[in-house]
Amino acid sequence: MTTITTPAVDADRYALSVGNSGIWIVCQECSGDDQIVGVLSDHRVRHTAVQALMAEHDTDHHHPAEPQCIICAAEPVWNGPPITAPISAPPPVEGLCIGCAFWVTAVKSRFAPGRLLDRTATGAPVARIDGRLYTMEPDPPRGTVAMRGHGGKTFTIRYFTGKAVTGSNLWDCGEIPARWRPLLPDNAVFGREPDPQ
Ligand SMILES: [Zn+2]
Ligand SMILES: [Zn+2]
Repeated sequence: MTTITTPAVDADRYALSVGNSGIWIVCQECSGDDQIVGVLSDHRVRHTAVQALMAEHDTDHHHPAEPQCIICAAEPVWNGPPITAPISAPPPVEGLCIGCAFWVTAVKSRFAPGRLLDRTATGAPVARIDGRLYTMEPDPPRGTVAMRGHGGKTFTIRYFTGKAVTGSNLWDCGEIPARWRPLLPDNAVFGREPDPQ
């Protein structure tokens, strides 16, 4: 069985009218030359060809809305490009916005097998404290100028497993959205409060 996918178009704005030279596809929302989407001289034209003409007109004149994220339905789908320093963006995930791609990646990292501590794909310890996600990145190489998380303040993370990590490059990745909390529960507490500013 074959499934034929036709371009999604907003067909409501289009009308067909019969003229001397054939069937005219007219956009009712455009004016002047722009409203002529196409003229079909052959009445046995394929439905898909008509839809393709309409889709092309939509793209040129009506800027169809970007597809929305299939998880949150609140943000446009993100296709990259990857963002690098200071915090790298997650790899794009088909159908997801950048935020949901980030949290999906965090969930995948959490469930990666063979890890004693939660870590990012690059091996940096991950802490979830009071519903926020933190990563303890390695110190920048000596002699390089690089931004550190929290201005380079030193933090100790105490995991519920009993392990602890101390570092001076802690990044706050933000509050974990409610829909992701069941998959990303707290796993640690801070061993020390941040120094006052
Ligand atoms: Zn139009
Ligand atoms: Zn989303």
